[in-house]
Amino acid sequence: NELSIHYQPLFHSKEERVYGFEALVRWNSKTRGLVPPGHFIEIAEQNGLIRQVDFFVLKEAFSAAQRWYDKGIMRGRIAVNISSVNFQQAEFVCQIKELVASVNGNCKLIELELTETAMMIDAPTVAKNISILKSMGFTIALDDFGTGFSTFNYLKQLPAQHVKIDGSFVRDMLNDPIDLALVKAINDISTSLDKRSVAEYVENKEIFLALKEIGVDYGQGYFIARPVPVEKISDELKKISENNLFN
Ligand code: C2E
Ligand code: CA
Ligand code: CA
Repeated sequence: NELSIHYQPLFHSKEERVYGFEALVRWNSKTRGLVPPGHFIEIAEQNGLIRQVDFFVLKEAFSAAQRWYDKGIMRGRIAVNISSVNFQQAEFVCQIKELVASVNGNCKLIELELTETAMMIDAPTVAKNISILKSMGFTIALDDFGTGFSTFNYLKQLPAQHVKIDGSFVRDMLNDPIDLALVKAINDISTSLDKRSVAEYVENKEIFLALKEIGVDYGQGYFIARPVPVEKISDELKKISENNLFN
């Protein structure tokens, strides 16, 4: 019982409002303090615990999403990261269906984020699983886009609705013309394939405004809001609406 979740707002650029949140797992260890996922996800993937980690987050996200939707706090979705290791398991989709039934979850309020490594294992199976999950109502996002090996193939085979431009391109895009060109190119490809684009690592106002100008649909990053525990969400949303991000 030492896992918890921090939620980071995702901002809709054109509508100028919070669209949803990304759920990011944390380990509150009695001996180590607050451990970030970068320090334990890979170990959980290796020792077979990753299914329990991701399902814990998904279950919590279903309940938070319904609560926030009912209260009018959220009109979009909560995004949940699913490890590519989980997609390797034949029973993965069945297990998701069982979870949805057990919590009476509304899949329309959840976005599943997956990375390209999932496709590198068994692309046809993953593509089939993704189609089933999409037909259940989940939105699918391609995370860390641009950092893998078969990006375009992946884009072709996966019926994902959202493309998350990897933060490593976004963070420096105003100093590095190559990064800027790549952000624009990924956004153009997403738009022409009728997908929405999301930029992570929006760390300052200049980047935020440049992304809006390029036409990136959603932004996420420390400039907008940091990931916070559930009890701090209301304060965070208040701060966002009070800080006029555009002026
Ligand atoms: P990710 O999915 O790419 O998540 C974004 C990471 O960027 C998060 O780190 C977030 O806190 C951080 N971030 C957000 N805004 C900014 C910004 O403006 N600048 C910078 N430099 N960083 C920003 P976090 O929470 O440490 O998560 C790291 C990774 O761990 C995630 O990367 C994801 O791959 C993985 N992860 C997190 N939660 C889960 C989970 O529940 N299941 C699985 N399988 N993986 C997870
Ligand atoms: Ca993610
Ligand atoms: Ca990412």
